Amino acid sequence: MQTKHLILPTLALGLGALLLVPAKDAGAYSLIGGSLSQSQRDFRIYNNFTDSQANNNNTPDPMFPGYQGAVMAIWKASVEWGSELHGDGTGDPHQNGSLGSGGANFDPSFQGLATSEGSTNNNIHSELAGSSGGVLAYTETPISDGWRIKYYSGWTWDDGPGTNVGGNVDLQGVACHEYGHALGLGHSTTSGATMYPSISGSGVTQRSISSDDIAGIQAVYGVKSANKPRITGVVITGSSMTITGANFSNNSNQVWFTQAGSGGSGTPIKVTNLSSSAGGTQITCSIPGTAGPGDVLVRNSGTANDDLSNAWPTDLQPDIVCPDPTTFCVTSPNSVGSGALIDFTGTNSAAAQNFTLACYGVPANQYGIFFYGGAQVSSLFGDGVLCVASGGLGVYRFAPVQADAFGDVSMPVDWNAAPVASGPGSWAAGTQWNIQYWYRDPAAGGSGFNLSNALDMTICP
Ligand SMILES: [Zn+2]
Repeated sequence: MQTKHLILPTLALGLGALLLVPAKDAGAYSLIGGSLSQSQRDFRIYNNFTDSQANNNNTPDPMFPGYQGAVMAIWKASVEWGSELHGDGTGDPHQNGSLGSGGANFDPSFQGLATSEGSTNNNIHSELAGSSGGVLAYTETPISDGWRIKYYSGWTWDDGPGTNVGGNVDLQGVACHEYGHALGLGHSTTSGATMYPSISGSGVTQRSISSDDIAGIQAVYGVKSANKPRITGVVITGSSMTITGANFSNNSNQVWFTQAGSGGSGTPIKVTNLSSSAGGTQITCSIPGTAGPGDVLVRNSGTANDDLSNAWPTDLQPDIVCPDPTTFCVTSPNSVGSGALIDFTGTNSAAAQNFTLACYGVPANQYGIFFYGGAQVSSLFGDGVLCVASGGLGVYRFAPVQADAFGDVSMPVDWNAAPVASGPGSWAAGTQWNIQYWYRDPAAGGSGFNLSNALDMTICP
């Protein structure tokens, strides 16, 4: 079998040769010398990979929001070197929930897509046309002031995520090795370590760093400090984000976001001068418009390696589940038939603003009111059944409308007027409401009013 080499460039190999005697005696790892400063934790991907296998993983993963294919594979490879589990540690079938294994004062900041291969210190992964014997990929100018990683197109690159990539080369495994060079590691003599200089199979096993690799990164950046800021959760409410964790500074914290879209400089999108609350366990900040799905990190008031937190996956633009409105509850017989049925035309899109409520089977020319609330109930009311309640969100009424001579009601919803325009009852994207029609029916000889069945509707963007 041909040996597939994972090499450093000639320049760095020369540098490594000067440092053949490792500073630490026990490890089989080696160090290039130097480390990435806090300002060089970013990485981007120029996704010019030509093999279809490199970009055919189209299954979204909640721990790697917004990206798939080669980008997701390289993102996984990078955060494996992080100080602790990336989110809940899932996303890679090979690592069984343990993604994020470095345990050092080192965490990378995913900065999305680049639009070119960049310079040798722009911290970008990309494919390089051609081949060079058994060489798979290489890392340029690690450590000095950033790096650049290239993968030869002569190989067939596979983005996984499964653990059998056939005769292809596992992009995630090789990326994990090359990124090890970028952060300051040379090759290891330990067979099976991610930093071992060659692979004999597909490279899948290199996705998970070994105890020797962990000893290596801890030798460069130090064992994860007890004082290192730590993110344990992120909650997004509208345009605001609340981060929970530990060891945040009282003042002068920064939150680092992944850039939205492609391009950028690689420098994280930052919100600065943030104070924490609850004893350094909570930070709330506004989400910048230039931020996108990716990872969030907190940097406390210092600039040392242990002043930057772990990377926490955060989907800033979660897909709102937006089914068509459906009916629920029951209608009740009235003076003209088997009961009034609620209906609609148009779409439940806040942007389209073309939603019209309707009701059929109402007594001719009678008045009624469409109303809505946050919960679904079923209780006798008048001659019918009440299907809508507040649920803590309130109950809201539209202006009265009148049925036509056929007993039909139609009411276009005005998205720019109360009650849907603003405030607690507003039809904001992502909110869910339950809508029913109340109408007068004096001819029935009962209570004088009745109700339709109801509509369950989630508002779309
Ligand atoms: Zn190598």
